[in-house]
Amino acid sequence: MTPPPSIIALDGPAASGKSTLGSKLADSLGYLFFDTGVMYRAITWIALQHDMNPRAETEITELAQKAQIDIRPPSIKDGRAYDVMIGEKDVTWAMRDSEVDANVSVISAYAGVRQALSEQQRRIGLRGQVVMVGRDIGTVVLPEADLKVYLEASAEERARRRYDEIIARGDKADYDDILKKVIERDHIDSTRAVAPLRPADDAVIIDSDKLDADQVFARVLELCK
Ligand code: C5P
Repeated sequence: MTPPPSIIALDGPAASGKSTLGSKLADSLGYLFFDTGVMYRAITWIALQHDMNPRAETEITELAQKAQIDIRPPSIKDGRAYDVMIGEKDVTWAMRDSEVDANVSVISAYAGVRQALSEQQRRIGLRGQVVMVGRDIGTVVLPEADLKVYLEASAEERARRRYDEIIARGDKADYDDILKKVIERDHIDSTRAVAPLRPADDAVIIDSDKLDADQVFARVLELCK
């Protein structure tokens, strides 16, 4: 039997189900799950905490070059796939708040920020046995990945899923507002000059609009064989 692909790149727009799929796939293969969005979110969170202007490219780039972001196995069973630590502070959920959502795409468009973070991602990815999730993994971070999957879904469907997630956590959410922000984030991510969101030429594109999470998982497992 041939072994499964060692480096698996999983890209796609906001809330397309990449993280759920990626963490499940990594679990089933015994691989490392690495959600690269966490790094861009962590930088954004720190910048906002320090009242930095998200438009201050030079300062934000310096921050990305020196920030110590630690991703560890989950210490609490509250639906998280990992702990994200900045120093001793657990920011796993804080970096998913709406203020981070609203600013992360601006910050992640900076070339210097991308360079600092992509280098770390690439170093980890090249060790293999990894499912790496993001926007540019198959195109820029790990173009040599053995399997590239690009997960698509309509903005409406993605907003609906994000809405359901927030409500399930017991928080309040506004569907129209989520939809607007998902569309905005996709627009910035896919039109930026450096490493824009797009499928690699050799990626398998899966449209998850009419598939549930289990069906998408089954399809990707099939591709791993
Ligand atoms: O995947 P997630 O929604 O957590 O990512 C947050 C943001 O981080 C994205 O909207 C995008 O701007 C940025 N990102 C990126 N490249 C990646 C992963 C995330 O630009 N590889």
